[in-house]
Amino acid sequence: MNADLVVVGGGVIGLSCAWRAQRQGMQVLVLEARGPGEGTSRRAAGMLLPDVEGEHDADERAFGRRSYELYPAFAQEVEAASDLPTGYRGCRCYLVAHVPERAEALRRMEWGEFLLPAALKAQLPGIGQSAGARLGDAAQVEPRQLIAALAAALRKGGAAIETGLAVESVQAGPQGVEGLRMADGSLRQGRRYLFATGAWSGTLPYLQGRGVVTEPVRGEIVTLEDTGDEPLQDIIFGQGIYLAPKGGRRVYLGATEERAGFDERPTAEGCLNLLAGLKGLYPAALRFEVRETWAGLRPFRAGGPMIARIDGNAVVAAGHHRNGILLAPATAERALGLLGEIG
Ligand SMILES: Cc1cc2nc3c(=O)[nH]c(=O)nc-3n(C[C@H](O)[C@H](O)[C@H](O)COP(=O)(O)OP(=O)(O)OC[C@H]3O[C@@H](n4cnc5c(N)ncnc54)[C@H](O)[C@@H]3O)c2cc1C
Repeated sequence: MNADLVVVGGGVIGLSCAWRAQRQGMQVLVLEARGPGEGTSRRAAGMLLPDVEGEHDADERAFGRRSYELYPAFAQEVEAASDLPTGYRGCRCYLVAHVPERAEALRRMEWGEFLLPAALKAQLPGIGQSAGARLGDAAQVEPRQLIAALAAALRKGGAAIETGLAVESVQAGPQGVEGLRMADGSLRQGRRYLFATGAWSGTLPYLQGRGVVTEPVRGEIVTLEDTGDEPLQDIIFGQGIYLAPKGGRRVYLGATEERAGFDERPTAEGCLNLLAGLKGLYPAALRFEVRETWAGLRPFRAGGPMIARIDGNAVVAAGHHRNGILLAPATAERALGLLGEIG
């Protein structure tokens, strides 16, 4: 295959960029060491909260808001092209304060409505005696569905997605990338290259040499089944803990934040901390059924995501940490702009 664009990494970032590129008429090849989304993206909670997650300097916030605005059309186009759902839906999100200082911070927050304990309880009967705030903007996708839909849309459009084989090294010359050496010794080549290798970006010396270094930050999730008469519909967000109902009765309880290298195993301690936090967050959920647990590696990068041209014919999009699902459409938009400059 003589690809116009070779994408390394088939997570939400690589697939979204590949999909945009395909829509612009490029012949795309995606190289994914595992399977689509099986790095981190399929393990995410899928909340789209431009005003909550992350460190948020002004640029980051604007970028998050741009992506949030792009989402409805992005999800709709992917669904139409794949004939599969993405789980995109608008919802409400409540921020819950456990301590007076947090309540005070929520009272001053400009992008939500502050609620005293009685008012919060009137909207969320299962909550304890906490003050909170209701955010103006919140939506969700189901990451597993989004990944499946993106992969299907790409394949239907004629893209190739090669799975189960890692890019082992990058051959580069003065003009840029000349080829990718795969783990079995074979070579892949194309006109342009996009590296979307998430938490593993620092493991490729070529990327390391261009300042692309990400650190894996493990996040664990416990999935619950809502056994109540009226299943929870809204996201509830405490400090470092949240409940994200995924439609039907499935609810994700997340997420720990741990530096454990590339260890992707969930631990008893992680689950214990999440379940213990549930008591203060939303006591009604203590009656929910425990179903599954998993962990994923957030691609942390100091200074936020790097979306930049790194060579004559290569672009990187990596380091989205806690917000990669939210930031996928805006990342694809920006990455395609950079790839367009390559010509
Ligand atoms: C528990 C948890 C909850 C989260 N919740 C949310 C949320 O609610 N909202 C949100 O916006 N974000 C959330 N995130 C963050 C989000 O999941 C990530 O930011 C996002 O998935 C990163 O996407 P990516 O495509 O960069 O990385 P990945 O999904 O990891 O994709 C990178 C891919 O590159 C492949 N790869 C790496 N090196 C090579 C190589 N050499 N050759 C071939 N392939 C390679 C990997 O196998 C991997 O599949 C959460 C993360 C976790 C862990």
